[in-house]
Amino acid sequence: MRPLQKEDVKRLLRPLMRTRTVLEPAPRPSAAREFVATRFGGLPTAEEDERWPLCDGCADDLRFVAQVDYARDGLHDRLPIAFFTFFYCWNCHPWGRDRDRGGWLVRSYTQLRRPKVLVHGTGPDFHERHAVPHLAKSLPDWVGLRLHCPELWALGRGDYGFQNWVDRAALKLTQEHALRPHMRNAGVALGGYPWWANGGDETPLCTECARPMELLLQIRPTELTDARWGDVGTLYLFMCRTHTQHTGLRMQCT
Ligand SMILES: [Zn+2]
Ligand SMILES: [Zn+2]
Repeated sequence: MRPLQKEDVKRLLRPLMRTRTVLEPAPRPSAAREFVATRFGGLPTAEEDERWPLCDGCADDLRFVAQVDYARDGLHDRLPIAFFTFFYCWNCHPWGRDRDRGGWLVRSYTQLRRPKVLVHGTGPDFHERHAVPHLAKSLPDWVGLRLHCPELWALGRGDYGFQNWVDRAALKLTQEHALRPHMRNAGVALGGYPWWANGGDETPLCTECARPMELLLQIRPTELTDARWGDVGTLYLFMCRTHTQHTGLRMQCT
């Protein structure tokens, strides 16, 4: 068998290419859009008849982390929703639990009919911050190739030189601004592939169709959000493209 050439690696990577939307800090949006504007912290928007969500673990109020005007700010190949909100419980801390419910909630909408801002007796849990979206390209992390390209994964297991070579080839194809080739999916982002901060690929499978879910939102600790998961915890929300009521949560800490 002839050794793998650079062109072979690119041939294997190219079909995996996805788009992602990177969110970066921005000034406050104009008043007209404030209802559904993407925000981290502050108060969430919901349908008129919806109430503040309770934790299904401890029955306390969940805390509001973020909402995304997905139809407007999702510049990538989006999942079929228009808006979503994300809540989390720091009492229960569903940290690495192997189940898809309990201690957190994603509410997603294909359209908001009568939106209102939900108020909370004790005020916002986190300082309100805003984001501006940028379109980027994305290829799987080295560890993500186990799921997305087993052929390449099998060739480079335990061979760090080879893995680094693949990382650099992927960076050339995506043309991302990354600190290092293996950090090319980092940041706060919608869609694309996750940056697995510390460990293997943990992409959840949909419990209805058994297919891998897609990344909905990745939150790295940045000035975009005051919410923290450990010192340097990265949080990943996933959603099935077909069954959007099925979502998954993962976390990795460095
Ligand atoms: Zn709880
Ligand atoms: Zn599904």
